[in-house]
Amino acid sequence: MQSVPAGETVQFPAQDGPEEVVQGVWRIPVPLPFALRSANIYLLDDGPGGRTLIDSGLGLPADEQALREGLAQAGIALQDISTLVLTHAHPDHIGLSGLIYADSRAPIYMLEGEEQHLSTVWGEGGDALQTRLDEMYRVNGLPDDLRATGQHSSRRLRRILRLPPLDAVSTLHDGQQIVLGAHTFQTIWTPGHSDYHLCLLRDDGLFIAGDHILPGITPNIGLYVGGRPNPLADYFVGLEKVQDLPARLVLPGHRRPFEGLAERAAELREHHDERSQQTHDILAAHHAGRDAFHVAGELFGERLRNADDWRFALAETLAHLEYLRFADLAMRAERDGLQIYWVA
Ligand SMILES: [Zn+2]
Repeated sequence: MQSVPAGETVQFPAQDGPEEVVQGVWRIPVPLPFALRSANIYLLDDGPGGRTLIDSGLGLPADEQALREGLAQAGIALQDISTLVLTHAHPDHIGLSGLIYADSRAPIYMLEGEEQHLSTVWGEGGDALQTRLDEMYRVNGLPDDLRATGQHSSRRLRRILRLPPLDAVSTLHDGQQIVLGAHTFQTIWTPGHSDYHLCLLRDDGLFIAGDHILPGITPNIGLYVGGRPNPLADYFVGLEKVQDLPARLVLPGHRRPFEGLAERAAELREHHDERSQQTHDILAAHHAGRDAFHVAGELFGERLRNADDWRFALAETLAHLEYLRFADLAMRAERDGLQIYWVA
């Protein structure tokens, strides 16, 4: 989940634009009003009847313009698209899916479980979920002023998204082989960044990573109400599932394609192992225990500049605290209305 700053200013990275990554595979970056600045849509063009889009940016007019211009550069129009695959249901990946569907009538594929977020998070269930999320933040120590904008941010995002009718979405299963265009793809359930995140390995070694593996930045792994209980352990499983795949090129959801899937997976594992150790050290230094808000403050410190940063950091810190708790390295109990963690 992401938030949209006031004004929705779009700062697109300079010198970034559509590129043909390998023959028939286009990366079309579309702008985001977040720190990430852009998200990738991929066009896999195997000719008429075999044109697949991967992900769909946010729903801003600037995203639609960038997508249409990128497709034009590849010599096709939106109505030529035959399939849309969404790696996960975060707003910067699903935002134009309704527009793409309306223009092309292309079937939309998601991994089973993830499609529910279109209604429970981004549809009519959004306000109820935000209320539960706010309560999660409260019992984990987040002060009122840092919680206050959560509901507002979520509503603004929901107004930007252009989502398809739910019956346009078909679900895939882990380990399935699907044929799209001239290629066969293996579906891989890669939980952690989102509960039912989908990666795909094409028969020629192209690895569609979504936000599971990113270059230069660490995918956010957070604990959220209604989600799976130990997302960091899930993420480690997801890293193990992909690290030995015969991938020759990784197509990430943000930034540029890169080689070296196994190396990047190992770096991400190491990053989270270090942060778990830091989290454990912080608890060990406070014998009376600590709520997640104060642990997050020690972990992230001055990098947290606004309320949205704090909510992300708290969710990420909770993922680490719960990981330690499931590993019997930390304990948790309620004290004066707050969830307190301490070392086991
Ligand atoms: Zn994401």
